[in-house]
Amino acid sequence: MSNINHDYIQDYLISLIPDNIDILKEMEIYAEENNVPIITKDVAELLKVLIKLKAPKTILEVGTAIGYSSILMAKYMENDYKILTVERNEGYIQIANDNIQKAGMNGKIQVILGDAEEILKDINESFDIIFVDAAKGQYMDFFKDTISKLKIGGLFVCDNVLFRGMVAEKSLVIRRKITIVKRLKKFLHYISNNEALQTSIIPIGDGVSISCKLKEVLFDE
Ligand code: SAH
Ligand code: MG
Repeated sequence: MSNINHDYIQDYLISLIPDNIDILKEMEIYAEENNVPIITKDVAELLKVLIKLKAPKTILEVGTAIGYSSILMAKYMENDYKILTVERNEGYIQIANDNIQKAGMNGKIQVILGDAEEILKDINESFDIIFVDAAKGQYMDFFKDTISKLKIGGLFVCDNVLFRGMVAEKSLVIRRKITIVKRLKKFLHYISNNEALQTSIIPIGDGVSISCKLKEVLFDE
């Protein structure tokens, strides 16, 4: 129960998607057994479409976990791609690196250990897509730290933005999540009303936002 769609819609959408047979399948089983919050299959399909449309050479990801979404995105990119992905959990990083090696993607997907709030500022490359799938209370900070590194025409994509419906419906809000919900709502309002961005928020999975960067984003401070 995601509180985002009717269960029958979600189940139907997922039922349409063919099963993975490669390392991604193994990773899905591992994630399920170990409660690793990887992207849902409907979100994976959306990412594949965005990648085919955009043909990115470079992706920055915030929130690697065990490397599932990195490996999935890499599989759909052209040969000369590069993914930089940031993760603060050391245990996950080891597993992610093992998976990347198994997938034969060493050197193409680079995992950086550390808190994104510290790491992101020091990254100097530019990217075609930025995919944020980490602490939801920090999305605005991640945005501020990275948007200047996104090329014009690039996509800023965030997972879990509807947060089990909590951003849309007060009665669903869990007390200890109030601050995160408030911050997420502020972020969603911001990206939906910024003239430098073209944003769409899609209620699949736990909610995905897609913002196309139209021009450089200016901040008040
Ligand atoms: N994108 C992955 C799943 C990521 S789960 C996939 O779909 O396969 C979210 C991850 O973000 C967790 O592993 C968590 O440790 C990490 N994370 C959360 N906040 C972070 C931060 N501030 N800096 C770095 N990693 C963070
Ligand atoms: Mg997620």
